[in-house]
Amino acid sequence: MSNRSVTVQRLGGKGRGVVALRAFALGDRVLRAEPAEVSAERTTHTIQWDWHVHFVPAEPATYLNHCCDPNLNVRSSAEGGYDFLARRAIAAGDEVTFDYGTTEYEIVTEGPCLCGAAACTGRMLGFKDWSPERKARYGVFVADYLKTSVRSGRSGPTYE
Ligand SMILES: [Zn+2]
Repeated sequence: MSNRSVTVQRLGGKGRGVVALRAFALGDRVLRAEPAEVSAERTTHTIQWDWHVHFVPAEPATYLNHCCDPNLNVRSSAEGGYDFLARRAIAAGDEVTFDYGTTEYEIVTEGPCLCGAAACTGRMLGFKDWSPERKARYGVFVADYLKTSVRSGRSGPTYE
């Protein structure tokens, strides 16, 4: 936890989460998700990097919670892993969250979404279940591997 811009805190009701220690402006890089361990399997602790590649992120990113109206955007990093950029102004003390569907083609977490956003879809949705409106809302801010399939029209994943 060398990143002093954010910290991991226990949040009432939903376990631990990542909280901003200072204010961020739109577009600022808030934190990175560095691969700590690469996995061929999707678990509730992995982030998806490619159609068949997942990784467990190092702390603090491993504690990022999902939100259907998050304050972080995802961007694939040339160094590997993901950069999380402020999607809007973030104040010190705010929990920072991202939409798991911006990296996950499918979601393995069961049960209702607890994000509490007005725009909550009731359960977490993987990219494959996104509406055109949700795709438009994030635009380029989804994992690079999800864009390659969309742009080239290749039949990508074999999960189904
Ligand atoms: Zn939600």
